[in-house]
Amino acid sequence: MERWQNRVAVVTGASSGIGAACAKLLVAAGLQVVGLARRTERLEQLRQSLPADQRQRFHQRSCDVSAESQVNSAFEWIEQQLGGIDVLINNAGILRDGHLLDMPIKDISDVLQTNLMGSIYCTKLAANSMRRRQIAGHLFFINSTAGLAGYNPGPDDPSLNVYTPSKFALTAVHEICRQELITQKLKIKTTSINPGWVSTEIVPDETKTQLGDVILQADDVAQAVLYALSTPPHAQVQEITLRAVGEW
Ligand code: NDP
Repeated sequence: MERWQNRVAVVTGASSGIGAACAKLLVAAGLQVVGLARRTERLEQLRQSLPADQRQRFHQRSCDVSAESQVNSAFEWIEQQLGGIDVLINNAGILRDGHLLDMPIKDISDVLQTNLMGSIYCTKLAANSMRRRQIAGHLFFINSTAGLAGYNPGPDDPSLNVYTPSKFALTAVHEICRQELITQKLKIKTTSINPGWVSTEIVPDETKTQLGDVILQADDVAQAVLYALSTPPHAQVQEITLRAVGEW
């Protein structure tokens, strides 16, 4: 991790779950981390929970990734204050329970705006920052096993019926970015992390009860991010699929 010391990582959705776990591990690994989320009080709690000697490497900004103007302002602040972006963890995401055919369009749109468009807004700005500075940066997509198939893997449970299309599209966004970076001869790495169920706030309590201990922890996903980041400059971890032992 030597070459990432004091480099700038942006983590979207850093106020809880996987994003908070990524932020903590990256700060501990020596990076400057900017945590973005809507719940700024949770970002402040995260900062307070860090060891005192690491705290100054954590920066926080209020940002709703589904609003392009807010993403633009946050990234502009990062450019001005920290000089640019070296690592982006596209992590912010939401889930709305219900059937695609019956759900209000507003709910469907919220999921797509956050999970898909939010990642696109951030990826464009981060990639441009890396391209302008000719930096060998790294773009991450916290996707899902739901992003590996265009159908809900659990047919009796509609909780993923809108989430799945958003994540399936993210798989395509990742692959297209990877290809475009090659054609532009840029040394920017891209990695998709596809976890199964993880014990975080996004998962309904009922599902957690059903899964019992067959569930990942947020830190398991953050460790996968750290692994992909730690590979030598010539090697790229394209994707990691991570499931709890015993998960279907
Ligand atoms: P959490 O609910 O704990 O975290 C979601 C994070 O996303 C929060 O920090 C939340 O912050 C942020 N977020 C949501 N909407 C927005 C928005 N519009 N703008 C900015 N931030 C937003 O769940 P997880 O940690 O599990 O989720 C993180 C990612 O992992 C998601 O993309 C999810 O799809 C993915 N994932 C999760 C799995 C699981 O089983 N838990 C499995 C596979 C993938 P705030 O509300 O403060 O804005």
